[in-house]
Amino acid sequence: MIELHSVTKNYGNRCAVRNISFNAPSNSVTALIGLNGAGKTTVLKAVCSMHYADSGVVLVNGIDAAENSIANKKQTAFMSERSAFFPEYTVYEFLCREAAVLFAGSDKTEQKERIAQASRLCGIHKVFSQKIGTLSHGWQRRLAFSRCLLSDPQVLVLDEPASGLDPRQSADMRSLIEKLSEHKTVFFSTHLIREMETLCSKIVVLHKGSVIFQGSQNELCMLTGEKTLEKSFLNITSKTWEQAL
Ligand code: ATP
Repeated sequence: MIELHSVTKNYGNRCAVRNISFNAPSNSVTALIGLNGAGKTTVLKAVCSMHYADSGVVLVNGIDAAENSIANKKQTAFMSERSAFFPEYTVYEFLCREAAVLFAGSDKTEQKERIAQASRLCGIHKVFSQKIGTLSHGWQRRLAFSRCLLSDPQVLVLDEPASGLDPRQSADMRSLIEKLSEHKTVFFSTHLIREMETLCSKIVVLHKGSVIFQGSQNELCMLTGEKTLEKSFLNITSKTWEQAL
């Protein structure tokens, strides 16, 4: 389970998230939705110990993400919205390099086994010999996902996992997330509400650095009186709601 308790994070004098609290249950999918600049990436990075809150506590499976960042990094993996790869490497060379860093000291057989497992899940083995610079965006996302899975993390934190994917790749991404969530906690941000709504058991709405809703899609629809998640989201982040809050 991911828990945020009264978390505030500033960049210099700009407050990105202010005093937010919510949780994302284990072995399920929780979506963090919000308009551009709402603070989603800021939250995801705090969950993965990529940066730390200025105040408040982030707990991941009971581990304090700031106090015990090494243990937290072992149990979490982060897929960034834009992944940086080495364009001249083939897919397989890149995964071997990543595995060698992740599992330094382990034998090559184990590293190869990890690569095989992660690649099969994402289907990236089909383009093992292709240079990364020649991959389409969809395959680059699959490669980024494979890299996340190399360490078989308990918690997957994904920043806009379906961004820029065509309908086929997007459907594959959804199926993969669904399958992984049987045994892992998946927490992701998205703007593609219509595409991703079927996946999530919980929604957290972030607006201008504050959590304005957490609960199920049905609860959000009931609160706003709308029939779909997308309409509910537009409703709850509209000016009328801001004034009421
Ligand atoms: P988007 O949907 O556009 O990716 P987001 O919801 O992920 O946005 P964040 O990237 O977390 O939002 O940014 C929240 C706020 O913090 C924004 O106002 C942004 O400009 C600001 N911000 C983010 N990173 C930095 C940084 N490194 N330095 C200064 N301000 C930052």
